Amino acid sequence: MRNSNEIVIVGDGFAAAIMFIHLMRKGVPASSITLIGPGVIGQGNAYSCASQSYRLNVREDLLITFSDDPLHFARWAQKHIHDPEAKTTAGYFYRRHDFGRYVSELVSHELGTRHLHSIAARVTKILRKENDWSLSLDNHDEFIAKQLIIATGNAPPSWPCKVNTKLASPAWTHTHLVENPWNGEYLQVMGVDEDIILLGGGLTALDAINALVEQGHRGKIYVISPRKIFPPVQASWQRIQEPHWPKKLSPRDLIRFMREYLPSANAASSEWQCAWEELRVNLNTIWQQFSAAQRLILLKRVGWIWSLYRFRASPQTIASYEQLREKNQIHFILGRAKQMSCAEPQITMILDNGSEAVGERIINCTGVGVDPLLSNLISSQLAIPDALQQSIAIDTHYRVLDTNQQAWENLWLIGPATMGSLGDVVAASAITKQAEQLAEQMKI
Ligand SMILES: Cc1cc2nc3c(=O)[nH]c(=O)nc-3n(C[C@H](O)[C@H](O)[C@H](O)COP(=O)(O)OP(=O)(O)OC[C@H]3O[C@@H](n4cnc5c(N)ncnc54)[C@H](O)[C@@H]3O)c2cc1C
Repeated sequence: MRNSNEIVIVGDGFAAAIMFIHLMRKGVPASSITLIGPGVIGQGNAYSCASQSYRLNVREDLLITFSDDPLHFARWAQKHIHDPEAKTTAGYFYRRHDFGRYVSELVSHELGTRHLHSIAARVTKILRKENDWSLSLDNHDEFIAKQLIIATGNAPPSWPCKVNTKLASPAWTHTHLVENPWNGEYLQVMGVDEDIILLGGGLTALDAINALVEQGHRGKIYVISPRKIFPPVQASWQRIQEPHWPKKLSPRDLIRFMREYLPSANAASSEWQCAWEELRVNLNTIWQQFSAAQRLILLKRVGWIWSLYRFRASPQTIASYEQLREKNQIHFILGRAKQMSCAEPQITMILDNGSEAVGERIINCTGVGVDPLLSNLISSQLAIPDALQQSIAIDTHYRVLDTNQQAWENLWLIGPATMGSLGDVVAASAITKQAEQLAEQMKI
């Protein structure tokens, strides 16, 4: 078996798959690329769902995998997905599992009769070896990359507070304290009358709510969140005009301009969402003009508002939440998690303001965690933290910056972890653009 290759992609999710496809389309031989990741290529954390209840949070025409054929997925879906419940007044919102199937099929289609070089493992460490990169894998192998693309995506969530499980068995703790709910396996063993605590009030909590409603849950659901609000429903929106942005903007000017541009209508209305999406087009360019300190100010001041409205939810998911609300089955408990203690069969979460939530199972819906591989690159002094201190810094060509702020010639990062450097790069369509641009630049 080979232990080196021209191009290595670390990761096996959407970003890795789409990078692979665009490299192949640029004429790079399949045999020159190796993908390293633990799961099914193309599915990753977002689309390898055991739960059929998890739906895409955007309509079908926004899941763009080829910029010159934006409706590729929409057409594939019409032909290959049987999902009568996908259709809503705001478009088709398919199951995430089906989108994962589509991406895996794209890879197979692009390969044809060629062989995919992939290694089912995790990369634990990256080191420089002469002009190449040496990768340590969790199966104890070493692999050498001449050119390395990191596409490790969204690191799974971890508990944001102290957890005391002294009075519970490991087996019970394992199934009742759900630290990473992204693939939804935990739903299969859940009793319908259990009282559930959802820690966090974003899209992962809404995924859980949709799944619980679909499986006829009867127990209470407690949502712990600093605010009594969920992301709004996706409306039917289109971009109609371009905002006339002022030339030089400070973070304060940016917020003021956006406030004035947005109509006073409800955030769930088409009118408001049209304007919001018109604003989003230029935000990455503006973000890149801000200094690290300005980016931090923005994150602190409006980060939560940004996350709330950028990630809107499918109409099916919000309908499930409304059902629970009407039945008085769901309750917000305001505050932030401080300490969790478990005395089987009960979980008690103490919040920073002294409030308490008690339930029989807790689902961690607090969002993206810390990527150990990126942290390792920083501690090995091969990379530096980005402006938000959440990932590693890169330049506008996706090249990772070294400790002298110089770009490595053969190390790149794509996907959600580029957000601190480049702005809002979380949605599939934004990642596609990165893969297309990087494939254009790479030499082999
Ligand atoms: C739960 C969830 C739902 C989402 N839903 C939507 C949606 O509906 N619509 C939308 O547009 N966007 C959605 N997103 C946003 C998402 O960022 C992108 O759509 C896209 O899937 C990101 O792809 P990725 O490959 O960068 O990341 P991921 O999907 O996170 O995949 C990264 C993969 O890399 C692997 N990996 C990590 N570290 C290593 C390592 N050290 N070595 C080897 N492999 C490693 C992981 O196991 C994982 O399989 C969602 C994100 C999440 C987390």
